[in-house]
Amino acid sequence: MYDCVIIGAGPGGICAAIYAIRAGLKTIILEKRGVGGQIAVSDIIENYPGFPSVSGSELMHNFEEHAKSIAAEIQFAEVKSIEVLGDKRIIHTSTDRIDAKTVLVCTGAEAKKLGFQGETEFFGRGVSTCGTCDGPFYKNKPIAVIGGGDTAVKESIYLSKIASKVYHIHRRDRFRAEKVLRDRIKKRDNIEFMWLHTAHKVVGDDMGVTGLQVKAYETNEIKDLLVDGIFIFVGITPNTSFVDCEKDDQGFIITNQKMETSIPGIYAAGDCRSTPLRQVVTAVGDAAIAGFMAEEYISSIEGRSYDGTTKV
Ligand code: NAP
Repeated sequence: MYDCVIIGAGPGGICAAIYAIRAGLKTIILEKRGVGGQIAVSDIIENYPGFPSVSGSELMHNFEEHAKSIAAEIQFAEVKSIEVLGDKRIIHTSTDRIDAKTVLVCTGAEAKKLGFQGETEFFGRGVSTCGTCDGPFYKNKPIAVIGGGDTAVKESIYLSKIASKVYHIHRRDRFRAEKVLRDRIKKRDNIEFMWLHTAHKVVGDDMGVTGLQVKAYETNEIKDLLVDGIFIFVGITPNTSFVDCEKDDQGFIITNQKMETSIPGIYAAGDCRSTPLRQVVTAVGDAAIAGFMAEEYISSIEGRSYDGTTKV
């Protein structure tokens, strides 16, 4: 029986482990893919205090080293469901079952796709949702970027330093990205903005993408862009399907300010949570609270047996 099972080894999961282990809780982190989460494939982070400019991979490397220094146990497994039995939380993975007193869900979110023609067919062959992973394939080649949030604008700036030209396509006539990024993208002279446009169809052959057809919202006019790569950054979808607690209409987990979900003993932190801001700094802030509250919760149920009856 673990005191604390943390699901996800991104910034939130690692931080939750630091707090839980330091509070003396027997803790394990379960991770489906690799340590780091979305941030490990981020280019540069400039808003994490103490690090004026740091690559996502370097920051995550430091997080991982910190976890190792306190002997955090990490197991690679995909969580399928969580069962509630009295005070016991049973975590079912693809291969195993793990019993715990508390569960901290720090599973983050994944990039959304749009569903235009050819998007799935050419995914991984010219269509991508990761600039840092796939950008270097487009050195001195023209590409398209789709989206208007922080991710799209940041990635467009990054990709414009590699590609010969970036067509930046956005469905509205302004970006929702933060001002510092909006100001920065305006200074890139190889980015052509295609406001009020949407991706219509990928053009390609056996070798991959050769172009993108875009459609003007107001006129429905189709335009052909000659591009070798198409990068989609249109938001995120949370990795929360395995847990049956209360969620918002997009599937993000609803918590209170103590990071408690609607199920006692289950907490959520970071991008998988319904929150107005998703940053590394907010993920670790959430996770510190969740780790702290897990210890408080365990103290509060001490004296109860884990099938929900009171010990005598
Ligand atoms: P986001 O903020 O939700 O932005 C999604 C963008 O995609 C919006 O511009 C949206 O357009 C567009 N979009 C959504 N559905 C679309 C559709 N069907 N067709 C065309 N366009 C569509 O997502 P995000 O940029 O991935 O950011 C996710 C979270 O991470 C946010 O909280 C963000 O602040 C945070 N983040 C922060 C940083 C940072 O360095 N500060 C970096 C990355 C991410 P509309 O604008 O028209 O709705």
